[in-house]
Amino acid sequence: MAEDDKQNIIIAIDGFSSTGKSTIAKQLAKALNYIYVDTGAMYRAVTYYAIEQNIIGEGFFSSDALIAQLHHIHITFKFNEELGFAEVYLNNKNIEKAIRTLEVSRFVSPVATISEVRQKLVEEQQLMGKDRGIVMDGRDIGTVVFPDAEIKIFMIASAETRAKRRYKELLERGHHLSYDEVLENVTTRDRIDSSREDSPLVKAVDAIEIDNSEMTIDEQVHQILKLVNSKE
Ligand code: C5P
Repeated sequence: MAEDDKQNIIIAIDGFSSTGKSTIAKQLAKALNYIYVDTGAMYRAVTYYAIEQNIIGEGFFSSDALIAQLHHIHITFKFNEELGFAEVYLNNKNIEKAIRTLEVSRFVSPVATISEVRQKLVEEQQLMGKDRGIVMDGRDIGTVVFPDAEIKIFMIASAETRAKRRYKELLERGHHLSYDEVLENVTTRDRIDSSREDSPLVKAVDAIEIDNSEMTIDEQVHQILKLVNSKE
């Protein structure tokens, strides 16, 4: 088939926290000239809003207040040429960096259990992928958002491997925290994400599992591109 005749498809990448989904998804989108959507950033944006509005914090969470204010939350992505990917905006404010803190990571999973939050974000995600040609990463993309995605990947790696990666990343960004705090956050999020009632993190029956504990980024991208070539 000629390059131009290729069909645009949907690539859904799900998996546990800090499995490097977004790194792989970004590279795939670049290689295929597809849109990349980081759905975790959307749940983080809602959480950031909830923290700012004092709706969630240490020992408290008013889910009713969050639901009542959901219509005030407008999440958009704008492509940053320099970075080579789309940054997330909350009500026109760039919050790409602000949502990557341990504080947001600590409150995001409880926020993501709320069905009204999920319904709003899933609708927006489905709209973004309506023309296909998209790589989307998250927890429920292959199961709920795009059950008809042509390619579904489920990423796994040991909790220690993932916590080490995330710890290194946070240190490099100048955050001061301990490895144990990061490991605690990764395992707690996995537990909440996998056990919630609405759209729990589960591997879709037709997803391909990739354990990337011992794989380089290039190896993973290569493996998925091979699958794409067989589908397009
Ligand atoms: O992908 P990331 O680790 O940034 O996601 C942050 C959190 O957002 C997850 O731990 C999960 O609670 C929630 N999430 C979700 N569904 C998605 C994407 C993220 O529930 N599709």
